[in-house]
Amino acid sequence: MTRASERTARELWFLTGSQHLYGEETLKRVAANSMHVAAGMNDAGVLPVKVVWKPVLTGPDAIRDVCLAANAAPECAGVITWMHTFSPAKMWIAGLTRLQKPLVHLHTQYNRDLPWGEIDMDFMNLNQSAHGDREYGFIAARLRLERKVVVGHWQDPEALQELAGWAQAAIALHESRDLKIARFGGMNMREVAVTGGDRVEAQIQLGWSVNGYGVGDLAARVAEVSDADVDQKLEEYDESYTLASALRRGGEKRENLRYAARQELGMRGFLDEGGFGAFTTTFEDLHGLKQLPGFACQRLMAQGYGFGAEGDWKTAALVRLAKVMSAGRGGGVSFMEDYTYHLAKGQERILGAHMLEVCPSIADAKPTLEVHPLDIGGKADPPRLVFTARPGPAVNATLADMGGRMRLIIAEVDVVTPEHAMPKLPTARALWIPRPDFKRGAQGWIEAGGGHHAAFCQSVTTEEWEDFGAMAGLEVIRLGADLDLRALRNELRWNDAAFKVAR
Ligand code: MN
Repeated sequence: MTRASERTARELWFLTGSQHLYGEETLKRVAANSMHVAAGMNDAGVLPVKVVWKPVLTGPDAIRDVCLAANAAPECAGVITWMHTFSPAKMWIAGLTRLQKPLVHLHTQYNRDLPWGEIDMDFMNLNQSAHGDREYGFIAARLRLERKVVVGHWQDPEALQELAGWAQAAIALHESRDLKIARFGGMNMREVAVTGGDRVEAQIQLGWSVNGYGVGDLAARVAEVSDADVDQKLEEYDESYTLASALRRGGEKRENLRYAARQELGMRGFLDEGGFGAFTTTFEDLHGLKQLPGFACQRLMAQGYGFGAEGDWKTAALVRLAKVMSAGRGGGVSFMEDYTYHLAKGQERILGAHMLEVCPSIADAKPTLEVHPLDIGGKADPPRLVFTARPGPAVNATLADMGGRMRLIIAEVDVVTPEHAMPKLPTARALWIPRPDFKRGAQGWIEAGGGHHAAFCQSVTTEEWEDFGAMAGLEVIRLGADLDLRALRNELRWNDAAFKVAR
């Protein structure tokens, strides 16, 4: 799924700082060098969007104007800044205080190597990032600007990779500021705390427009779907999955699959007509629907929509943003729930799953399409895709409303292949071990207030989520291999003060 905001955020503007003192000749070389850097970053093919070179900046008016232009340009996802020479940083105040796009400071130097035998004062004056970037860095710090500093030569693959991750986060922020979320049934699961939150606050801070829609409206849209379109969907299912015999052509539950196709098409139509990038459902309100739309949610997630069950709009939004951040990469993203545990000492595992709604983008093999009764909701037996998540590193992201601020919790996990078959489990599943280990990982997550729903990401890194959280002004808690529970407790305690001070 590609929405308008994703298509438009296709540029990073590259701003090079200098000053008039050096004279025409030097400034020409600065311009040529910085053009070369921009072209080199594009040619490396690592960044998700194009770097667009802008004329070298030597005065406050031009700096202010280019920052205002960046704000107004829908194609600009963020701004890269670099001081080739010294650039007195008071010149940057008017621009930086107005800039509303994500900002990265690329601390690099045109020349990789010192020309040991040739070095003279001309070289020294031309290649001044070492102190020009410190002058600039001071003003960014003095202004308390949220920005990322990437250090390294501009051809260094590691530095470029870091920049690419930041760019993915910037594109996700672009999407976030424009994200519309439809809540079918319009409510959270009754009495549940962690999936709730302040929707006005979320819109102010993150841009999310979260609104509820009657299930009757969706049911009407589902009823409008044509039989021909349903037939076409069924052909697609027949090809894409291994179908249980009851769901095959002529099978006794084929009709349930037809209805699931109708739901997928009706929901997709509803979402696209309203410009929604994410949605939630609730099994407590299915008026007018014959079955819980689980398979449809799986299918729509695979098409790029964010999803949250039981009215969980926060996780729905995170799933959508993770889909945007990982676009074009291998590896999937899914709505996920910490469901049940294996607690054998030293072999602890978390079994993640949901009633139905796990995205097949994370599957390690062709999913099977099965149909089973559902104990919750009291409706017709819903089809569902069943599979196991592919092994490897992954990240769980969840958002907790702490009252007055949102806390983004990101946990690194290692997904493993189950040692045993689970032939009676009628749902897709993922089996993982949190880092640094089960005990500390689970303890940290719970002490930080992380809920049971998360965006499970195979191809978004913790650093990319941290970049996104920082850009969005969220409190970010990362749980990884270096987790220290005492330090975490202090971090949580101190963040209460930090966020009160910030406000
Ligand atoms: Mn749930």
